[in-house]
Amino acid sequence: MHKLAWILCLALAVPAAAAADGRWYRREAAAMGTSVRVELWHADAAAAEAAMEAVLAEMRRVDALMSSFRPGSELSRINREAGARAVAVSPELFALIRRAQAISALSGGAFDITYASVGHLYNFRQGIAPDDGALEQALPAVDYRSLVLDPAARSVRFARPGMRIDLGGIAKGHAVDRAIALLRARGVREALVSAGGDTRILGDHHGRPWLTGIRDPRRPPGTSAVVLPLADTAISTSGDYERYFERDGVRYHHIISPRTGRPARAARSVTILGPDATTTDALSTTVFVLGPRAGLALVERLEGIEAVIIDAAGRVHYSSGLAPP
Ligand code: ADP
Ligand code: MG
Repeated sequence: MHKLAWILCLALAVPAAAAADGRWYRREAAAMGTSVRVELWHADAAAAEAAMEAVLAEMRRVDALMSSFRPGSELSRINREAGARAVAVSPELFALIRRAQAISALSGGAFDITYASVGHLYNFRQGIAPDDGALEQALPAVDYRSLVLDPAARSVRFARPGMRIDLGGIAKGHAVDRAIALLRARGVREALVSAGGDTRILGDHHGRPWLTGIRDPRRPPGTSAVVLPLADTAISTSGDYERYFERDGVRYHHIISPRTGRPARAARSVTILGPDATTTDALSTTVFVLGPRAGLALVERLEGIEAVIIDAAGRVHYSSGLAPP
């Protein structure tokens, strides 16, 4: 063979050899009331498929434990019984409720899982929102300080009549973290797992960062307002476009101010970056409720947390760790 031909063969063989240490695998499925996506780099097809299957099974397990829509979930049992007496719960659920309570304390109650005491009066699919009277009656039950946790008994009790809890602002992040832990334990070193607006990235995109878009809240899905290059991080977005209906020009959406019982109005979307998805999920909801000013002030106080906020006028605000110099 001609010398040049050998060199060409060699050059063509190099990328193929480099790719032989693995390839990307990808799966999307419905779980936790949203779309779950898993992408991972793996050297072995069967092991990759098994790992993705395990992630989806884990998501379904967490949902079965924590969904407020499933009458058989542990969370639903709390909502039925904790008004009458302390209810003992699993270590996993108890730990997540404690985490939620810590974020309530951190945010002066902007994040509050007892928001559900009024939250259940909304139905975004059917276009139902409570009237003033119903809100006024239900609002006193929204108070995280009246959600009594007993670590010794691992129990939960409602100290106010009409109280309910919902983990919609934190459970998907928890499930994503569980999924990443599970992938790590299987030896996966590069992966992305997302459930709706909550994503965690393990490693990078095989030598390059993942390019993650933040959607423009008033344009169709797929149009990015901001693109961030990311590796080894969690990122969550809360938006007023996820679940909402409009009446008389007013947008009723699913992120509720615990103070008023009405949808929070100061932002269109909030994106939080941080070390784990449980934190970024809860904080994206929190900062959405707080709005750009108080929200950014909170983010600046927290180590390792950054934010991108699109405010009610469509302006983009960045925390100091992201802002261009
Ligand atoms: P998504 O479910 O679209 O990912 P978020 O992470 O922003 O959205 O969480 C919104 C969900 O959080 C709501 O659907 C509801 O279950 C819950 N939630 C709404 N308001 C609050 C609040 N003030 N504190 C805690 N959880 C809330
Ligand atoms: Mg959230």
